[in-house]
Amino acid sequence: MSKDDKLATQIVSVGREKKFTKGIINPPVFRASTVVFDTMDEMRFAIKNKTNGEMFYGRRGTPTHFSFQQAICELEGGAGTALYSSGAGAISSALLSFLKSGDHLLMVDTAYEPTRDLCNKMLAGFGIETTYYDPMIGAGIRELIRPNTKVLFLESPGSITMEVQDVPTLSRIAHEHDVIVMLDNTWASPINSRPFDMGVDISIQAATKYIVGHSDVMMGTATANEQHWEQLRENSYLMGQTTSPDDVYLAARGLRTLGVRMAQHNKNALKVANWLVTRAEVDHVRHPAFDTCPGHEFFKRDFSSGNGLFSFVLKQGDLASVTAFVENMDHFKMGFSWGGFESLILGVFGINNIRTATQWDSSKPLIRLHIGLEDADDLIADLDAAFSRYNAILQK
Ligand SMILES: *Cc1c(COP(=O)(O)O)cnc(C)c1O
Repeated sequence: MSKDDKLATQIVSVGREKKFTKGIINPPVFRASTVVFDTMDEMRFAIKNKTNGEMFYGRRGTPTHFSFQQAICELEGGAGTALYSSGAGAISSALLSFLKSGDHLLMVDTAYEPTRDLCNKMLAGFGIETTYYDPMIGAGIRELIRPNTKVLFLESPGSITMEVQDVPTLSRIAHEHDVIVMLDNTWASPINSRPFDMGVDISIQAATKYIVGHSDVMMGTATANEQHWEQLRENSYLMGQTTSPDDVYLAARGLRTLGVRMAQHNKNALKVANWLVTRAEVDHVRHPAFDTCPGHEFFKRDFSSGNGLFSFVLKQGDLASVTAFVENMDHFKMGFSWGGFESLILGVFGINNIRTATQWDSSKPLIRLHIGLEDADDLIADLDAAFSRYNAILQK
């Protein structure tokens, strides 16, 4: 593989070095705890190179892991990638690897709910104070930085409400104050943005979503730049973070089709979103590619594509009408997560329970969709029937 290869070529090629694959296409599943050495010299060599692609002990990884780590690292554009048993594990480990008692954390108000809970329920208990900030704050972040601010955490677009952040501006100001920039980059996946070119220090993926792509594995990754890689790697290791090689195998297998899946998710989602715009019941679409989504201009500047995940806001409705909408769908299943091949739907209530720096207008219900790889016309027909059920309740 060369640096000049186009993205589609890179997705197919990254991490497939012979030292990992042993000459077959996919690196085999190396299941290991103990690694045995014949001589003291061999053992010393393994100790010396334990972070350098040599097998040392199972928890440090095997070629199955090393290959996948290298693949994600090259796609994200960092210096090293650590693996975790879930996206939530990657987020908590990245934060805990850099924060200590007395530190201050700036967390985006639209963070994934468990990230917020981690700050409020655990980090607070460790004496780490969190301030939530408006995702659209831009250069205003400067006023929130304190002498003890250690980490600025971003998630772009934000969970549920999809605000796109001005990542380069936020990163630049953070670095002027020696603040580490972490980004939950799950929506972009490793292929739709260049987090390190935008100044991010640590880019986090819930690999559970589009990397795995088949809704059957939980996994997280955190990729760091040169300056932060050693601390992330060693502190994650100290916290005992490790992943099953079987799961890594599946994630690596998912990765190879990420490019074509993403293109189809994006195409289908745009078709569905464009149809939703024509519906009288819809107030607006919260899809970063639409100018009704806050931060749309940053999406155009910083992302190469969208994916299948977006939300839309209804002009009116209550629990009963939204329930009629989301229940009894043909193709859209109700459930958490996203990024698999299948379509999902969520009627989201209580958004203000997970916002403190911003306010959401709760009089307008929000529905989140994940658009899968089904035919988009079948999905539109499914939504059309949902609008009929919803309207029937509203008219009662
Ligand atoms: C799903 C998700 C996570 C958590 O990933 P898990 O693998 O479910 O723990 C974190 N951030 C975002 C943006 C997500 O969508």
